[in-house]
Amino acid sequence: MSIEIVKEIESLKKDRNALLLVHNYQDPKIHELGDFIGDSFELARRSKFTDKDIIVFAGAEFMAETAAILNPLKKVLIPSSMAKCPMAHMLTPKKMKYYRTQYPNAIIAVYVNTTAETKAMADICITSGNAVRVIRNLDNKQVLVGPDRNLAHYIQQQIPDIEVIPFPKVGHCYVHQKFTPSDIEKLKVQFPEAEILAHPEVKPSIQKLANKICSTNGMLKEARNSLSDKFIIVTENGLVDRLRSSFPTKLFIPARKDAICIQQKKITIYNLYLSLLNNRYRIHIPPNVAKKARLPIERMIELSG
Ligand code: SF4
Repeated sequence: MSIEIVKEIESLKKDRNALLLVHNYQDPKIHELGDFIGDSFELARRSKFTDKDIIVFAGAEFMAETAAILNPLKKVLIPSSMAKCPMAHMLTPKKMKYYRTQYPNAIIAVYVNTTAETKAMADICITSGNAVRVIRNLDNKQVLVGPDRNLAHYIQQQIPDIEVIPFPKVGHCYVHQKFTPSDIEKLKVQFPEAEILAHPEVKPSIQKLANKICSTNGMLKEARNSLSDKFIIVTENGLVDRLRSSFPTKLFIPARKDAICIQQKKITIYNLYLSLLNNRYRIHIPPNVAKKARLPIERMIELSG
């Protein structure tokens, strides 16, 4: 990483009164520049309480949209227009309408990995870090959860006394879908004492093999508090970099070398610099959509405790 470009980014951040929010899956070089690094829930909360004029989001587009929805008067930028999460586009407004009609008594809980239009039609948002707590606090016997069917399965296991319906049936993250039981079994033989930490977006067959299922921030917490010094990490590999730099005396083994989110990796130091320099790419959410989408996000923040 060139020292000049880092200096330029630091000075642009200062001059423009900008906040740089960085997701856990980003490159370590971008982690180093961030004002806050975290999972999508932590970053949404950080964006809500900032007094900066500009928010630059190094993450997926839906995260930047969430920041823009919460901050209608601020400029929210994403350095690459290609950082679009494919899963976020699996739950369309048309499908929302269809399922609302099919299940009139259910609460519709959508993952933050959705577009602003889809959020605007939901009752509440959830993230992998707060889904169980939020849904438990809803006090409703039937909840539709989308678009990630594996997260819906995980919630159902944690709260068996309510009905959790995944929708649409095929929603998934292609990165987390890659892990197979044999990936984990092989590593278990090689590192029998390692603790297995898996993200709830992995398949149920992998969830069964994990010692702990948690969000990326949950994994950081577990690595800090656990007595174990070896961990098999079953999520996107940016988190492995983050864990290694946060806990240099512990060993973190990625469950697969190709667990890479191509879309999140579209953010680079160079386009981050250009983003701050030229105000690109600004997130625009139509005010009527933002107004409706704000309610389920704020409801989530409130119920997360
Ligand atoms: S890791 Fe999966 S869910 Fe996260 S942004 Fe990439 S494709 Fe979307």
